[in-house]
Formats: sequence, structure tokens, C-alpha cells
Amino acid sequence: MAVGVLALQGSFNEHIAVLRRIGVKGIEIRKPEQLQNVHALIIPGGESTTMAKLAEYHNLFPALREFVKMGKPVWGTCAGLIFLANKAVGQKEGGQELIGGLDCTVHRNFFGSQIQSFEAELSVPELAAKEGGPQSSRGVFIRAPAILEAGPEVEVLADYPIPSKKLTDSKSVTGNQEVKIGSKDKVIVAVRQGNLLATAFHPELTADTRWHSYFLKMMAECGDQGNFSTGGDDINDNQQQLRNDLPIFQ
Ligand code: GLN
Repeated sequence: MAVGVLALQGSFNEHIAVLRRIGVKGIEIRKPEQLQNVHALIIPGGESTTMAKLAEYHNLFPALREFVKMGKPVWGTCAGLIFLANKAVGQKEGGQELIGGLDCTVHRNFFGSQIQSFEAELSVPELAAKEGGPQSSRGVFIRAPAILEAGPEVEVLADYPIPSKKLTDSKSVTGNQEVKIGSKDKVIVAVRQGNLLATAFHPELTADTRWHSYFLKMMAECGDQGNFSTGGDDINDNQQQLRNDLPIFQ
């Protein structure tokens, strides 16, 4: 039993390191045929436009869409969340291709640019109910997206108050697009819809491994009985050392 991590760009090494910490094999995915060897997939954070261009170049979109449609568990973190959304706003001119499947509208850079990145303690009752531990979890938001609207089948796992400046503006401007936020005072930052999990923040950069174990439980629920293989993925010793040395922000 193995978990694939889309390894085109972004924080795929960090996800593989967390999987290793909890005893699960993470496999780098760069080609469509490699998806056949994995039972679940993590799409990491990074830069969604770049990732989309690379995915297009490697002809990955049809296989990724098929993977989602087959009901296999897929977790998108940050740029990965944008990838999974049915609709994205605040995109660069011409937009970008999405995998889709997650019934929501996501704002690509909702919280602003790189320098507006932040950390926050999020209330996560559903995660705590399933995984134990504290009722809150640290969210690392890096040029983070947010979910503005979600369909009826989408379960909200965490939300976050809209920064007051955005509320006074009652809109968010990205490039030449103006997006109405309306009267909401919160945006959604973590969701689950059947086989899909999405977080606007980066659990792979914290010491809290509960999001990863929650995702692994989804594998069991979605049909694969969690007989995870442990230990080495196919990388050499130097790469292994690099992963073990990746920083964990506490
Ligand atoms: N907002 C970024 C994008 O559009 C995602 C940032 C991230 O993944 N940390 O791709």
C-alpha cells in the first residue's frame, strides 16, 4: 500500500518526510503511468500555475482526473487545493487548468502575497474527534488560497475569520479580477468531500501528523484496507538524509 505524492514542484519532499515519520511509503509521481502504483495521492503546495503547466507538459491531467473519479483518496494542500477545486478565481490571465472534483470555489491568493503569509491556531473538532490530541491545529498559510463557497456535499473541517481589511473592502482584488466576498465573516480553509481532502495551509511543515493520519484513514474508508508498507521508498541515501533533515516548525 503506497501513497503517491505529485512531485512536479513545491513541498513534495516535506510530505514524503511526514509519511515516513508515520511509517508509510511515499512515492514521487511525475508520469501518468506511475499513478497505477499508488492507492492515494497527495498534491502538495507550491505554485499552482507552474504546477499546472508542468502537469500539462507531462500529460498528467487525464490520469489525475481519472484517479479522482475512481474514488481514490486525494489530498490537496494549498496549491493542491486549488488544483482540486471545480472553480478558481483570482487566477492569472488565461486561467490555469484544474483537476476539479471538489465542489467549491477557491480564491487562489485570498490572504494576499508572499509577505502576508502567516501562522494561526485553527479549531479542528472533526480532526481531534478522529485522531485524538488537541482541539486545535497549527495552520501555516503561505500565500494561501481560501474556499469562498462550498457545495452541500462538502464537509467543513476548519474555517478562519476574514481579515478585517478585506471585510471593509467587501471584495478582494487580484490582478485585474475583483472578487466579491459578500457578507461572510469567515472563509473555509479545510474540507472533505468523500475521497477528497483539501487544506489551504501546510500541515507537512508542522510537527502535527494528524492530518496525514486522517488522510490514511480515508484510504481505509475508501476501500483500501490500510495495510501500509513501511520503510524505504526508492531513493538513495543522500536524498534520504536530506528528507530526514527537513525542518519541522513547532
Ligand atoms: N496561492 C498559491 C498559488 O496560486 C499557492 C501557494 C501555496 O501552495 N503555498 O499557487
